[in-house]
Amino acid sequence: MKRSVLVVSMVLAGVGAAQEPDWSKVEVKVVPVAGGVSMLVGQGGNIGVTSGKDGIFLIDDQFEPLLPKIRAAVKTLGDGPIRFVVNTHFHGDHTGSNAKLYESGAVILAHENVRKRLGLERINPSTKERTPPKPPEAWPVVTYANGVKLYLNGDELEVIHVARAHTDGDSVIRFKKANVVHMGDTFFNGNYPFVDVDSGGSIDGLIAAADLVLSSIDDKTKVIPGHGPLGTKADLQNYRKVIASIRDRVKALVAQGKTLDQIIAAKPTAQWDATWGKGFMGPDVFVSFVHRSLTESKPAGPK
Ligand SMILES: [Zn+2]
Repeated sequence: MKRSVLVVSMVLAGVGAAQEPDWSKVEVKVVPVAGGVSMLVGQGGNIGVTSGKDGIFLIDDQFEPLLPKIRAAVKTLGDGPIRFVVNTHFHGDHTGSNAKLYESGAVILAHENVRKRLGLERINPSTKERTPPKPPEAWPVVTYANGVKLYLNGDELEVIHVARAHTDGDSVIRFKKANVVHMGDTFFNGNYPFVDVDSGGSIDGLIAAADLVLSSIDDKTKVIPGHGPLGTKADLQNYRKVIASIRDRVKALVAQGKTLDQIIAAKPTAQWDATWGKGFMGPDVFVSFVHRSLTESKPAGPK
């Protein structure tokens, strides 16, 4: 179990010894969403994109080796430079093209903890493996504590920080006119989510993020998840129900004095595993992160 936790952490963070995919085989596909917003699906976190008279706006940028393919996909949606990029959080499968995009003139925005974490050496708490900080070119140049609004391409984009969810630097982005929300990795559509407890994430924060978004959307809203297919309000409600039920079960078992091994053996996720446990976050690993999130004291945040 330990090993799979490590591999998952490395893959999601886009770091370290996890085997790199064969980039030449990765296709970057355009999925139309609504109101001029599209989703790009390649390897790593789903990208959100709009284009128009103000230029191209991106949410997340996957991995640097994919940037030529990302640019080619964007070009099918409109001409003009990539002017703004919002990072939903710091993980490498969402920020990998930052440096190259910065060098070609994009302004990168993110929560202040994204900038801090990209500039820090990461030490895997289990393996002690060290990952060097990203170069300053990859750091967001505009940061915020709570959020920011952008008025672009005829729409109003509200960027909202959600506390301690997937990490301690998550943002969700709402396109008011297009009626689209990009949730970054606070929403895994159809798979158990990764709770990056070592980077300040928490299961309670993930549930709170889902509640916040659910309170502001309707049945027509399109919901872009960090991973998984394009979703709806019903998909997000279902995800919220699954992760909150598992949180409640693990919490009850902790209150009964059960150890992590006993909790895993009790299979609190069993009824959902056939569908939700087939992704890169297997049931036991997910339960171990939920358990840690409920029992460990929270880290103080990036220095
Ligand atoms: Zn992530």
